[in-house]
Amino acid sequence: MAAKEKFIQVAIDVPMDQLFDYLPNDQILKIGQYVKVPFGRRQIIGIICSISSATDVPREKLKKILSAEEEIIFDKNLFKLLHFVSNYYHHPIGQTIMSVVPSRIKQAKGQIKKAEKIYEATNKLNLEWIEELPKRKVRLRKLAQALILNSIRDSELNNFVSNGRECIQELVSLEVVIASKWTPKINQAETPPELNNEQKKVLSALIKKHDNVAWLIHGITGSGKTEIYLQLLNKFVNKDQSQVLILVPEINLTPQLEARFKLRFPDKTLVTLHSHLSDIERLDNWRKAKSGEAKIIIGTRLAVFTPFLNLKLIIIDEEHDGSFKQYEGLRYHARDVAMMRAKYENIPIVLGTATPALETWFNAKGEFAKYSYLELTNRAVKNAKLPIIHTIPVGDKYGPIISDIIIKAIKSRIERHEQVLIFINRRGYAPVLVCSNCSWSANCERCSTRLVVHLKTKRLRCHHCGYDTTIPMQCMDCGNTDLHPLGLGTQKIEQSLNQLFPKANILRVDRDTTRTKDALDQLYQRMNKREIDILVGTQMLAKGHDFPNLSLVVVIDADNALYSSDFRAPERLFSQLMQVAGRAGRAEIKGEVLIQTAFPNHPVYEALKANNFSEFAKSLLEERKQMQLSPFSFNALLNVEAKSLDNSLAFSHMALEKANKFKSSVTLFGPVRPIMERLKGFERHQIFLQAKSRSELQNLLKPWIKELRSHPMSNRVKWSIDVDPIEF
Ligand SMILES: [Zn+2]
Ligand SMILES: [Zn+2]
Repeated sequence: MAAKEKFIQVAIDVPMDQLFDYLPNDQILKIGQYVKVPFGRRQIIGIICSISSATDVPREKLKKILSAEEEIIFDKNLFKLLHFVSNYYHHPIGQTIMSVVPSRIKQAKGQIKKAEKIYEATNKLNLEWIEELPKRKVRLRKLAQALILNSIRDSELNNFVSNGRECIQELVSLEVVIASKWTPKINQAETPPELNNEQKKVLSALIKKHDNVAWLIHGITGSGKTEIYLQLLNKFVNKDQSQVLILVPEINLTPQLEARFKLRFPDKTLVTLHSHLSDIERLDNWRKAKSGEAKIIIGTRLAVFTPFLNLKLIIIDEEHDGSFKQYEGLRYHARDVAMMRAKYENIPIVLGTATPALETWFNAKGEFAKYSYLELTNRAVKNAKLPIIHTIPVGDKYGPIISDIIIKAIKSRIERHEQVLIFINRRGYAPVLVCSNCSWSANCERCSTRLVVHLKTKRLRCHHCGYDTTIPMQCMDCGNTDLHPLGLGTQKIEQSLNQLFPKANILRVDRDTTRTKDALDQLYQRMNKREIDILVGTQMLAKGHDFPNLSLVVVIDADNALYSSDFRAPERLFSQLMQVAGRAGRAEIKGEVLIQTAFPNHPVYEALKANNFSEFAKSLLEERKQMQLSPFSFNALLNVEAKSLDNSLAFSHMALEKANKFKSSVTLFGPVRPIMERLKGFERHQIFLQAKSRSELQNLLKPWIKELRSHPMSNRVKWSIDVDPIEF
């Protein structure tokens, strides 16, 4: 009898929660390899997830694998993690796996980038040897002459002669030149600065553990968390073949951060993984992590799924940041996935932040604390203090847009050649255009939101869907020509500051002016050279950067976040303002923060003024406990949207009915309209699920989602499930 037949289970990027069985071809197949398979009439790339000796599919229906690449994409632990993620977030397994594979591999263009070579002359190469070359070999002579003086890299060849590659090959074959792999010159490592006592204590706690333990470093802004990461890394990457993964929010991944790590570890390969890389760069960096060549990997959320040879530590900087959550497709939270990953790999994980997410805080300080808590209460720079925070009440709403107290404060800073940051979280000129005669305002036709006035380009723009139109000459309702921009945006603040301080150098920084990382980088350099007096900007400026000469931060018009219907809004506002405030007084210049508000005694502002995160967290947790919200319950959100309101509502009602049939103890709320009732032309509904335990929630989700997927109405709507939602 022939050897037992094998069947290959392949993950494919299709919205069905299953693997697909294939027959092997004549190659040696291994789990984790990527393969080309026939699917319907197409040929697509998939990944081998398992190999078994049985199948439920009739043998004659099975097709053969077309070809397999040698490269193994994932190891066992990573597979385990992806299965967990697919189950937990209820995303089809094939789509889960394929969404973390670099796109180059999916396009079957995953060629391996060749290492660069360097060419050096042997002692056979000298002027006499060149003399004997035929006179017509002009280029060969020229390149040979250059090589007597210097060694030349692949990428430099064409600087010397055209078609340099051909010439160099000839010289190599004549044995006067040898080729070797090029490696960059290694500078001496920068000497680490001495830590203060608090930092030393934190570091010595961290280096003791090498198995699975979760740490929270709760350190005020400027307390030197990055320096602790650097010195912690030192204990890891110098050992064996250890690799370290550092996850950062997208906005923090600046060239400066990368440079700081490179200066400290010049002899270790460091790669970054984020959305600004080209597909080829991304694949190349990903492979360096997988092969173990890269020892330090700095990346944004998707990097949590990178394959490693020997991962020994995960650090998540600014763990509270919303950008760790993916809002489309596979809706995961990179911090939570990293926690699981650390568990599977049995390695430590370090979370760092000045304002922990309430869930993290609860896990570190609550009744059933799972994380170890470490605190930094002082700024790392000697004598640098946290800025003092004041609230400045706004007068009546027709008064000046910036209060006199604030204008005076700005003036005094400019006179002292210190810098000012004005923070307003709304770009454009004004958030709304209204008619002075009737109540008409300019609204987006596709979203339930107002159009923002952009005066410089004379356009009205929707910041949600990108809809863009000219500013109308008259009211669409009554024909009145007196239309007013109302409210504040970055452009309007910039304009009034220009009038108030005509001699000051004022720079506006928002997505309209600063789209690229390079632009942001130039801005930091100009700030440090003191070419700018006043920066006006959005949250792009809120974090990550030290401005040593910045002594005043002004916050304008943050109040709207106080009355949001999203229960996480106060937590977010607190952390955002804490971050912005933290930009002031980083060096020895004393910092001050002025918050202009109509509610100077609101608890969020009181907590900021007192710099008391723990009291603030305590009161928020008390509220959440009473309302049985996260972390006191486990939540999921069903999002439904459709072109027609009827379809969206009908699907939501059907979904609710189905859920109720399971007689689960999970409480369901809805269907309700989310804050943005209409978005990009789609009508929206939500159903909110609240459970006492994770398992209770998951036990309902699994069969419920299965039914929804196969329901005929599901073709008429777009729907998704968000487990542990953080925005509504
Ligand atoms: Zn009107
Ligand atoms: Zn819109």
